[in-house]
Amino acid sequence: MIELERYYSYNRYLQNTFGGKTYKVVVASGLTCPTRDGTLAKGGCAFCDVRGSSSYFGKKGRGDEIQEQIRSRIPAVRERFGAKHFLAYFQSYTNTYSDVEYLRSIYQAALSEPGIDGLCIGTRPDCLPDAVLDLLEDLAQKSYVSLELGVQSFDNASLEWLTRGHDRQSSLDALARLKNRAPHVQVCVHLIFGSPTDSSQAPEEAAQILNSFQIQGVKLHQLMILENTELARRFREEPFPILDLEAYTEQLIRFLEHLSPSIYVERLYANATHNDECLAPQWSKNRWDTHNQIRDLFQSRNCIQGARARGVPISMPLSSSRSSENTSQLTAGS
Ligand code: SF4
Repeated sequence: MIELERYYSYNRYLQNTFGGKTYKVVVASGLTCPTRDGTLAKGGCAFCDVRGSSSYFGKKGRGDEIQEQIRSRIPAVRERFGAKHFLAYFQSYTNTYSDVEYLRSIYQAALSEPGIDGLCIGTRPDCLPDAVLDLLEDLAQKSYVSLELGVQSFDNASLEWLTRGHDRQSSLDALARLKNRAPHVQVCVHLIFGSPTDSSQAPEEAAQILNSFQIQGVKLHQLMILENTELARRFREEPFPILDLEAYTEQLIRFLEHLSPSIYVERLYANATHNDECLAPQWSKNRWDTHNQIRDLFQSRNCIQGARARGVPISMPLSSSRSSENTSQLTAGS
């Protein structure tokens, strides 16, 4: 049965970009974060359990180690998923938080590895000095480079509550500088919905801001309370409201309907990797029930990406393929 594709899925974007099945191979850069090393704070952002991340290796990622990580992972991924193209994914911590020489060495090591078609680099808005943007632009003119930017929220109250160590203006500045100084870099913004401090218009406002910067992608997740985080400590001390699945899906619908249809959606929600380490919400633990309930609500509300976006053309492709967002747990996405 031909099914309406309600949003521009990451699979379709990868297919359009690389022409075949593409998979992200996680590699560790060996870097830290300004919210972990004492520069801005210690202990990390309030929601982040970097130790639970699949890309946490706890070792320095020199060029030869980067290549070794890639070589050891590609064969299994090729066999299991039938992937034809591979992207080296610097996922955990802040992967632009170093001097340019070191960054160039690890990025180039990854790009020089056979089978690697490009880079995905996770970072924070306040860790993108001009020299780093120039390096990214230089690489992006020759290879695919996607910057996964941990904006998380455009509400200052939520950024403070999440102890991010940067404000809304820092994200706006980073997006503007990326657009002007590094135009070949693909930008994928990470957002969290569901902080009790979010403004009532947070989904619509976030979509409109992203449209205005003409970024390429978004990756969404619900506020999740994981063990070994500041949020877990606060939640146990005094529980705060968490969105149930229906309320979260309502926020997704409002966001997607205001989002330009040219922006791909890499993920709609996060799935708890370790169920026993997820305190709330409980629906984070049940991948397929959650997937099906979101799909059903999208259908009953006839949610279409961009349906309420102002000033952007609406043209959604029809597809018989099931959109298959990556639902892995975001524990350390910068
Ligand atoms: S969310 Fe990102 S910046 Fe914050 S502690 Fe985790 S990895 Fe570091």
